[in-house]
Amino acid sequence: MINEKQTDVIIIGGSYAGLAAAMALGRALKNVMIIDSGLPCNRQTPYSHNFLTQDGQTPANISAIARQQVAQYPTVQFLNDLATDAVQTGTGFNIRVASGDSFQAHKLIFATGIRDILPDINGLSDCWGISVLHCPFCHGYEVREAKTGVLGDGDYGLEFSRLIRNWTTDLTLFTNGSATLTPEQYALLQQQHIPVVEKRIRELVQENGYIRHIVFEDGTTAPLTALYTHAPFEQHCPLPEKLGCACTTEGYLITDHTQQTTIPGVFACGDNTTRLRTIANAVSMGTAAGIAVTKSIKN
Ligand SMILES: Cc1cc2nc3c(=O)[nH]c(=O)nc-3n(C[C@H](O)[C@H](O)[C@H](O)COP(=O)(O)OP(=O)(O)OC[C@H]3O[C@@H](n4cnc5c(N)ncnc54)[C@H](O)[C@@H]3O)c2cc1C
Repeated sequence: MINEKQTDVIIIGGSYAGLAAAMALGRALKNVMIIDSGLPCNRQTPYSHNFLTQDGQTPANISAIARQQVAQYPTVQFLNDLATDAVQTGTGFNIRVASGDSFQAHKLIFATGIRDILPDINGLSDCWGISVLHCPFCHGYEVREAKTGVLGDGDYGLEFSRLIRNWTTDLTLFTNGSATLTPEQYALLQQQHIPVVEKRIRELVQENGYIRHIVFEDGTTAPLTALYTHAPFEQHCPLPEKLGCACTTEGYLITDHTQQTTIPGVFACGDNTTRLRTIANAVSMGTAAGIAVTKSIKN
């Protein structure tokens, strides 16, 4: 059954960025619907760090507290569902969800995050966010001075290794096949005592997401505690692009200083718009979007 409902704002994505936007809008007495499919990017990570007042909390706890606080504002409603279609109408936007309902709003906020496309190495996805890490500022302190690897090559492999060297002296760059490093890059790595291993990786042997060792195609192994990698990504939600929102060459939604995308009335915040991938930044951008959308709604 199709159920047409009108609200001021629909926020698609109810994790940190979306909840922060909802709090600003709820406190501004705006009618808001948050539609969330419950798959934040950090869901496999046991503990989250570097977000003031919540350092060491589980990601789910941080969201649960935020959701509880947002739910206190009576003009905010939640829908656990997947937004499957978005259409621009004469007065705003129409959003359809997987369960079959559709809803109308004057403004849209996409707080939908990104989806990591992990390297196709056996065992790696089991370790994602636990011992295969994307960010030393989030997780580096916990594995400081541990036996650590960087999975990468070329400029990125060099720069990421030099960054991670801040947290550990026991560091190896694994290129998973012949490296594309220049002689100068090998020399810079050598200067910092970072060996390069160019063997192809067969699998990561792990227990409950904690790496024990790498197994190479030639059958040899290397013990390891943590492995950093930057995975390529795609937008978690295709609807902004369907509406015509432009992206950067890297794949982030383009926004102005108010978090508005290139389509008027459509805003975006959080990981889907930025490389600076932290909860603090997602919350900051969500708050900015909530304030900007409030100002853009005519009373
Ligand atoms: C493994 C890992 C560990 C991390 N650890 C830390 C850490 O320790 N500290 C830190 O500060 N940061 C950490 N981060 C970064 C942090 O998790 C992100 O910056 C943050 O989650 C971004 O919030 P967001 O709201 O933009 O997106 P997300 O948290 O990814 O949430 C997006 C939400 O949108 C929903 N959604 C998407 N499409 C739709 C749709 N079509 N319909 C309905 N809902 C939809 C999803 O289900 C999800 O709930 C980590 C990231 C990863 C990947």
